[in-house]
Amino acid sequence: MLSVEGLSKHYKDHQVLTDVSFGVGKSEIVGLVGQSGSGKSTIAKCLLGLERPGGGRMLWHGHSLGERAVRRRARHDMQAVFQDPRSSLNPRWTIRQLLSEPLDNWFPREGAAERRKRLVRLLDRVALTAELLDRHPYELSTGQCQRVCIARALAPEPELLVLDEPLSALDVSVQARLIELLLDLHRTSGISYLLITHDFAVVSDICQRIVVLDQGRVVEEGVVETVLTSPSHAYTLALLRDVL
Ligand code: ATP
Ligand code: MG
Repeated sequence: MLSVEGLSKHYKDHQVLTDVSFGVGKSEIVGLVGQSGSGKSTIAKCLLGLERPGGGRMLWHGHSLGERAVRRRARHDMQAVFQDPRSSLNPRWTIRQLLSEPLDNWFPREGAAERRKRLVRLLDRVALTAELLDRHPYELSTGQCQRVCIARALAPEPELLVLDEPLSALDVSVQARLIELLLDLHRTSGISYLLITHDFAVVSDICQRIVVLDQGRVVEEGVVETVLTSPSHAYTLALLRDVL
């Protein structure tokens, strides 16, 4: 479904990504791990069209994201959730407005009754109640705000969510509930995730495959159980030692 081939990126003379290749299949959950500064978010930004890659190819269903029509399709098919939910949400808007905006954008011709149904369904998918609809982000917990961000990302019914450290701003018990939510969504809709994280525990909880990034290069890729139990690269071993 998504294929990244030989991606490179530099800022001035700083080479941030070098020959990065990996893929995400339909209904697959792939973890992208690496130390701070290893280039994880830069990959996400290239995929989302926020940064222009220096070289290599990114293919969506076999077609290059460099082509405008493919990019347009991917703007619908590929959605993102970032680390800090509060900075992703306009504080002046109510939850109803925050969820209606992407629905207006993606389903502009829908009637009021259908729209209401879609809104309720969206709330239901992220386990939020309708009584929150007239509140603002600052009247919600950070975990609830992240659920709103996930709902916004789910609004167009995408095939892939790029999740850039979506749990890092949350405390451990809230993280556990959101992991459950992500797993539920995956089970019920077959959506794929590219999950960027520092946290190997999260990777082993939800990912099927893992890509390990060190200084902008993929040093290891494979099935999670294999990589976590017998890493083939010293960097992966060091990362695992840091967290265990
Ligand atoms: P973290 O785990 O801390 O989020 P990361 O793996 O996501 O780190 P990136 O944000 O991709 O790392 O950054 C990789 C490198 O690219 C860093 O050295 C960073 O300073 C540099 N970088 C990122 N964005 C820019 C930019 N717009 N201009 C210049 N350098 C940048
Ligand atoms: Mg990052």
